[in-house]
Amino acid sequence: MNDSRESSLPQAFLERMKKMPGLDYDCFIKSYENPRTFGLRVNTAKISCEEFERLAPFPIQRIPWVENGYFYGEKSRPAACPYYYAGLYYLQEPSAMTPASRLPAAPGDFVLDLCAAPGGKATALGAALRGQGLLVANDISTSRARALLRNLELFGVPNLCVTDEKPEKLARSFPAFFHKIILDAPCSGEGMFRKEESLIRDWSPEKSRRLAQVQRGLLDLAVTMLRPGGMLMYSTCTFAPEEDEGAISFLLERHPEMTLLPIQGFEGFSPGIPEAGNGDPRLTDCVRIFPHKMQGEGHFMALLKKDGPSLYQSHPVSQSGKRGKKPKLSPAAPGKNTRGLIQAFLDEAGITSLGGQPFDWSRTEVRSGNVYYLPPAPVPLQEISFLRNGLFLGEIKKNRFEPGQPLALALHRREAGACISLPAADPRLMAYLRGEALPISPGEAPGVKGWHLLCADGFPIGFGKLVNGVLKNKYPAGWRIL
Ligand code: SAM
Repeated sequence: MNDSRESSLPQAFLERMKKMPGLDYDCFIKSYENPRTFGLRVNTAKISCEEFERLAPFPIQRIPWVENGYFYGEKSRPAACPYYYAGLYYLQEPSAMTPASRLPAAPGDFVLDLCAAPGGKATALGAALRGQGLLVANDISTSRARALLRNLELFGVPNLCVTDEKPEKLARSFPAFFHKIILDAPCSGEGMFRKEESLIRDWSPEKSRRLAQVQRGLLDLAVTMLRPGGMLMYSTCTFAPEEDEGAISFLLERHPEMTLLPIQGFEGFSPGIPEAGNGDPRLTDCVRIFPHKMQGEGHFMALLKKDGPSLYQSHPVSQSGKRGKKPKLSPAAPGKNTRGLIQAFLDEAGITSLGGQPFDWSRTEVRSGNVYYLPPAPVPLQEISFLRNGLFLGEIKKNRFEPGQPLALALHRREAGACISLPAADPRLMAYLRGEALPISPGEAPGVKGWHLLCADGFPIGFGKLVNGVLKNKYPAGWRIL
């Protein structure tokens, strides 16, 4: 490692790493000379990896340990491409993709991401649910939870509930509720020193000790919310033993009903270090990711299961593939007039299904003129502070229904009859994203006027209204690019 870089790292951190059992310290420290890598994760709820590989307008290379992960070059600009605004991929550091990729969330599961902002793991889990079941994504910080909501909407996750709540309160409302929980804990961030220099300045042994206490509290609460037979993924982006194996040692001692599970491996993964915790040999089932052994930053993860009967016994899978009872008709279901306005829009845009499932009126709810599509499972939200429960479909304005942007992004390809699909390289798509009106020639639109869904190679981007060969821009101001 070059001296200036090594000397920029905290001395106490370096001393501790030198003593880490089994670590080749020289190789570890040398890896700080290597440039960081850049990754994107394909949204397989919208596009297959094979098709994305054919369409990608910049060079990509598979990340060998994450099925739908790709490296891209530093000079590529993946956020300046219409596919990004169609929610086809999420930009994420390659190691950080690993924990969600090793938690087997399946359609119909109730999933909780307890510390979810800005949504790297939540978007992956939301895509895995395929619109069935429920994703509760929480972050204690309201401003960060707003960014989380935006990312989940961009990804087109329809069965979402985004909360900005203290985990203690969530635990009171959701005892033994979730099939899968991810706890990507707030941590000292040592694994990200190469990526974010500010973390070096903020680091101190005291901070690590304080966070270790926070993590233990969060683990306790996560266990409370996990149903018997459920799975918990704990992850951090730090090397600090007390936040990694130390936290899992605490969990195993305090909760004998929890068992560590082996994690689907990769040649670059390193086993957990028992001496970094309480010496329990089971800790080798944890996984550490070191930057000198992988093309990614530092990470830690542990997958645990709660004892109990088969996960889905108390909540069987129904024929529709959803688990549990059908929710009752929502108390704020749209009245006849409102329903007529929504239906008129759906007819005009040629929409009969949403996210691949027939449109289900029993899931629509109207609150203060805003129309939502509730998750297909009841969410006990009494006394819980939330930003969103369900997909925002749009609003009733001047006796008309105006569709919302999250609806556009939750629609699958070819799900709207009135679709104007332009090739991704067409400059009109970026102009649309800037808020401009677009000239549309007669052969490009199925209708001559009214609501149309603008798409990039068939992938929905947003709504517009066609009038005399011009698509009036309905991309919301808050979503536009500069
Ligand atoms: N999982 C996220 C992702 O993949 O994009 C990153 C999560 S980040 C490591 C940790 C998050 O925990 C931060 O957004 C922070 O606001 C949140 N946080 C901190 N303390 C918390 C607490 N007590 N309860 C819930 N969230 C908390």
